[in-house]
Amino acid sequence: MAETKYVYTWGAGKAEGDATMKPLLGGKGANLAEMSRIGLPVPAGFTITTEVCTYFYDNKKSYPPELKTQVEAAIKNAETIMGAKFGDPANPMLLSCRSGSRESMPGMMDTVLNIGINEKVVQALIKQSGNEHFAWDSYRRLIQMYGDVVLGLKPETKNDPDHFDEILDKAREHAKVEHEKDLSVDVLKDIVAQFKAVIKKHAGIEFPEDPMEQLWGCIGAVFGSWMNDRAMVYRRQYGIPHDWGTATNVQAMVFGNLGDDCATGVGLTRNCSVGLPGFCGDYLINAQGEDVVAGTRTPLRIEETLSKDAPEAYKQLDDIGHILEKHYKEVQDIEFTVQRGKVWMLQTRNAKRTGFAAVRIAVDLVNEGLIDVKTALEKRRIPADDLNQLLQPIFNPAAKAAASKTDAFLAKGINAGPGAATGQIVFHASDAEEMWNANNDAQLILVRKETSPEDLRGMKVAKGILTAFGGASSHAALVSRQMGKTCVCGCDKLSIDYEAGTVTVGGKVLKGGDWISVDGFTGEVFAGKIETSPSEVMDVLMGKLAPEKSEIYARYAQLMKWADEHRTLNVRANTESADAVASVALGAEGVGLCRTEHMFFDHLDEMREMIFSTTKVDREKALAKLLKFQRDDFTHLFKTMGDRPVTIRLLDPPLHEFLSEHHMHEDPTLGPKLAKTFGVTEEAVARRVEELKESNPMLGHRGCRLGIVYPEITAMQARAIIEAACAVKKSGVDCKPEIMIPLAGYKTEVDNQTAIIRETAEAVFAEQGVKVNYMVGTMIEVPRAAMTSAEIAKTAEFFSFGTNDLTQTCLGISRDDYKSFIGYYTENDIVPADPFQTIDQTGVGRLMKMSVEDGRSVRKDLKIGICGEHGGDPKSVYFCHEIGLNYVSCSPRRIPIARLAAAQAAVEGAKKK
Ligand code: PEP
Ligand code: MG
Repeated sequence: MAETKYVYTWGAGKAEGDATMKPLLGGKGANLAEMSRIGLPVPAGFTITTEVCTYFYDNKKSYPPELKTQVEAAIKNAETIMGAKFGDPANPMLLSCRSGSRESMPGMMDTVLNIGINEKVVQALIKQSGNEHFAWDSYRRLIQMYGDVVLGLKPETKNDPDHFDEILDKAREHAKVEHEKDLSVDVLKDIVAQFKAVIKKHAGIEFPEDPMEQLWGCIGAVFGSWMNDRAMVYRRQYGIPHDWGTATNVQAMVFGNLGDDCATGVGLTRNCSVGLPGFCGDYLINAQGEDVVAGTRTPLRIEETLSKDAPEAYKQLDDIGHILEKHYKEVQDIEFTVQRGKVWMLQTRNAKRTGFAAVRIAVDLVNEGLIDVKTALEKRRIPADDLNQLLQPIFNPAAKAAASKTDAFLAKGINAGPGAATGQIVFHASDAEEMWNANNDAQLILVRKETSPEDLRGMKVAKGILTAFGGASSHAALVSRQMGKTCVCGCDKLSIDYEAGTVTVGGKVLKGGDWISVDGFTGEVFAGKIETSPSEVMDVLMGKLAPEKSEIYARYAQLMKWADEHRTLNVRANTESADAVASVALGAEGVGLCRTEHMFFDHLDEMREMIFSTTKVDREKALAKLLKFQRDDFTHLFKTMGDRPVTIRLLDPPLHEFLSEHHMHEDPTLGPKLAKTFGVTEEAVARRVEELKESNPMLGHRGCRLGIVYPEITAMQARAIIEAACAVKKSGVDCKPEIMIPLAGYKTEVDNQTAIIRETAEAVFAEQGVKVNYMVGTMIEVPRAAMTSAEIAKTAEFFSFGTNDLTQTCLGISRDDYKSFIGYYTENDIVPADPFQTIDQTGVGRLMKMSVEDGRSVRKDLKIGICGEHGGDPKSVYFCHEIGLNYVSCSPRRIPIARLAAAQAAVEGAKKK
């Protein structure tokens, strides 16, 4: 049997792999191979496959026996191409070792550079480069990275010492220089000796002199980093399976730190913050890659100065950018090194971008003829959730102008992640996480010198990120772009003192907990809170801004038009009258859920009168008062929605939501007031409150159980709906009411309520002398309803999945009480996602599928939708498309997201067929 191929080489215009092999070679490896194939300058190297990572974890962190010889052969191949030898004391080739999984996980796993230096090799480097500083600096970097990454000396918490940094800090301080590039050779030599001593003391071993031993240590560390905490957090956040594994890429080093004709940088073929065309990025002259990404030195901008600093390199880069965009048909995020004037490519990948940039880039690429509309709609190009960013508030222009005039303006940094964020300053990610766990409404701005992958958890919970160092490609910028967070970075006027817990700007001192505001569109930073106002897109949609005044809107509208042309699922709104206009503006094709109880909350006195009524006659009297309010609300809703369908759900919550001990406690005057109004004693009021109390309210007297025991409630609501519909019809609007029965589990429940509704409707039609087409259907929100859908569909004319309750009842997990453990469950992979946000397809989804099939086996054209929160969750929308629902219904703000997700499901579904 042929032995398994675990190693794939590339270099000198050839490669054993290509861009299609991401699952096996990871994104980085596959693209290095691809770039080599298309003739771009890539230093030679090889990829150890993701299968080795799987083997590594399945076999107690060991390797397949055949790996060693395959790696040795691949090193030989790279040596031949590069004309140097790994570990050779005369003509050494140095290597880098980097992770690279199928989906990029920026900065989450480990990298080691300059592998292969020892006491002899450092001398050879000095001879070859003629640059002693470079050789010793490279050596100290290797020892530091090896110590941090391979030997685990990197600090894990804010309180752990960073031995290497402490030595560097002291050396810089002593030499009175800002950067280690300015340290003398003698100092660097001394640092190397001190670093080795740190390794001996804290890791208990000598730093390995043998280059091969160094390399295998690094390979093990890279595979090991697949399971580090931050990588796992990242994978959970982005739904990347833990069993994919990472590949390891070993590549010949080229140097950006040999002198002033060398540089290193990261670039984007277009701006990925707002989407503007044109090559851009960060670079540093005479530096190594980590210096740019780590954000320890604020880099220069490629688009501003590289053409002056290094015109030849700039031209090579610009050409490469065009070749890459044409080849990949996608914006690329590249890493490069300029070694003595020649550009070398170290990486290319599809660039992460904000929602703003995603929309603009997708639309622009279609208009430029690089991609077609279906490609533009792909979810990997515009994750539907990211549209949210375009609908988020921005700073109120007047409030911001006022702040700019006062001394609230602090400084301006790089506008790395658009949006407006205002919050309390927090300096450490762990503190941010703790504060957010204690209070999910906390508004926090993470303020740091720079961020690193350890800060991911804190970045997740912060509203915005502000850093003093680092450019548009720094870790902070990259991650916030991907998370859609507002970010201002490289704001070098900030002087941050972690120990004192202060940030000082031009004499002004702000402390942790103080409020600060950052404008991610402009990079401006203000002390204090600034009021926000709706997004530009919302302003156009609501008629407050002319469409031609907003470029963002123009591209949003184009994208939504394409989405609407491609989707098959309809999208409706969960709304009552107040938000109906906004829902239509956002693209709602109907109302999928009007929760009538919200209307009752506005008329608590009448509702409580009904609750206190002990006879049917008294109840009907109270209900007659509510009838008018309900009818007015429905009339307004029907008028706004025109000929679009409007699903109105009958009263659902238990009556104690309108009167409970909580209400009495909140307002001590309530008891006496109710007693007086209803002519009863205060004890009687207390007794009624006690009667209404339930130990398990979600499973108590609610839903259609109310309308069955008190049929007059259903009759009143049906009358209000039909009277409103008749009135609207008389005014010439062909409204389409759909009356929905909540929480039914038995056909008999649906029969009972349907009979009341139909009887009432006939009576109203006779009174009004006009008829309206209406439907009566039910929610499917308890497992019994899903399991007996064939029965229920005999009566129900439509179904709507109430997946909030269906999840609650299927899983036996209370939707109100699950917060205390769901965090633990997701963190520990007990559940793949929060089941109240994303449909649990295996459990709840199975019930839904069964219900769809059974329901339609009885009523072929049964209209089926979803109105639980999941209706606005992209993954759940795909699922609803797959199982053949007619529509999804969600909160108004999520309508554009659902429209795009529905189009993506249709486009991707069609591709699968
Ligand atoms: C549901 O249960 O999914 C639903 C939409 O109803 P509610 O959230 O009002 O219980
Ligand atoms: Mg419900």
